[in-house]
Amino acid sequence: MSIIVQKFGGSSVADAERVNRVAGIIADTYRSGHDVVVVVSAQGDTTDDLIEKAMEINPNASKREMDMLLSAGEQISISLLAMAIEKHGLPVKSLLGWQVGVHTDSIYGNARIKTVDTERMTAELSQRNILIVAGFQGINKFDDITTLGRGGSDTSAVALAVALKAEKCQIFTDVDGVYTADPRLVSTAQKQDEVSYNEMLELATLGAQVLHNRSVEMAQKYGIELEVLSSITNQKGTMVKENLTVEKTIIRGVAKDDNITRISIVGLEDVPGVAFKLFDRLAQKHVNVDIILQSVGRDGTKDITFTVSKDQQDVAMEVVTAFDSKAKVSCDNNISKVSIVGSGMETHPNVAAKMFEALYAADINIQMINTSEIRISVLIDINDSKKAVKAVHDAFIK
Ligand code: ADP
Ligand code: ASP
Ligand code: MG
Repeated sequence: MSIIVQKFGGSSVADAERVNRVAGIIADTYRSGHDVVVVVSAQGDTTDDLIEKAMEINPNASKREMDMLLSAGEQISISLLAMAIEKHGLPVKSLLGWQVGVHTDSIYGNARIKTVDTERMTAELSQRNILIVAGFQGINKFDDITTLGRGGSDTSAVALAVALKAEKCQIFTDVDGVYTADPRLVSTAQKQDEVSYNEMLELATLGAQVLHNRSVEMAQKYGIELEVLSSITNQKGTMVKENLTVEKTIIRGVAKDDNITRISIVGLEDVPGVAFKLFDRLAQKHVNVDIILQSVGRDGTKDITFTVSKDQQDVAMEVVTAFDSKAKVSCDNNISKVSIVGSGMETHPNVAAKMFEALYAADINIQMINTSEIRISVLIDINDSKKAVKAVHDAFIK
């Protein structure tokens, strides 16, 4: 029997009414003759509320204890959803990450899935049980609970779909697909029928939180097509896949990321190996560096500026201040990164100029620019970020 993996995000199971609605979707899928494995996130704002509780007690709590706490949110939602399915008279079991053998590395708070054991799930499915699995969590080699990073339940769903060789992986959320911009920010945003893995990976990495970027990366690696759709409306969603049947568009979407900090080091010695040593030390501390800019050397010195996510600001600053006592270090987190993504831009030379013109017309100053073949990103003042997304979106998408 073919297996369908369905993932429901926090807003889809936020209250009893929504849990009951989701149970109905799952029951219908099961009754249509499929084996169903469901991945669920914590209800509504549960994860944020748990973080707040932890901050009241110890703002410097260890990541291990944070993972122990945050994984509790999903335990509540899986059991409630299983109870709702029991009302349909269907066989169902809720299971935590460790029970379904989601093994991860030991980077607490941002763990990566290494392997998924399918034994337990296969045995349960052969009994025709519906499985409701806690997303966002796994277990490491010390038998400790780990979490996969915010929004990580999407990645749990794709990992189970890969391991179980599922026929389909559906990501149900509170919007009915992937739009040309966050529909809560831009009222003229348009729903896309299809988005390529590469475009979706860029969009997700650049701040379109509709999918966890690692879920897209994994889906692409293993050729799992993802359908992003609403748990509320009954409409067709967006397919995320390799080869699109729709025409390439210059811009597939606009995204913004306010969760970034810019760090500058001025007056570094202009000799070989400086960049290597600096970024190697940052890598040793697991700091993910995003945009990097190095100035042309002058008078024996050079400057390096780079961005990291806000939660890595403190550790990055520690590394950078200890790096060179003669260099001057500064940091700014009142910035936002606004990006456009589209595989069609490869063949259209004027895309950058058009984006910069839209920002100029909106009186927005660009602080840094970064590009790839299918993306252009600018760093701007955080107070301009919403205006910038709208301006750039309207310049490209009619
Ligand atoms: P879930 O709880 O289901 O995982 P998320 O809040 O993580 O849901 O992701 C869904 C949200 O992503 C939407 O409510 C929407 O505001 C936001 N979003 C950002 N960019 C986009 C986009 N390009 N298309 C659709 N939604 C987007
Ligand atoms: N509950 C987790 C979070 O809020 C995981 C997820 O929603 O995917 O980040
Ligand atoms: Mg999410």
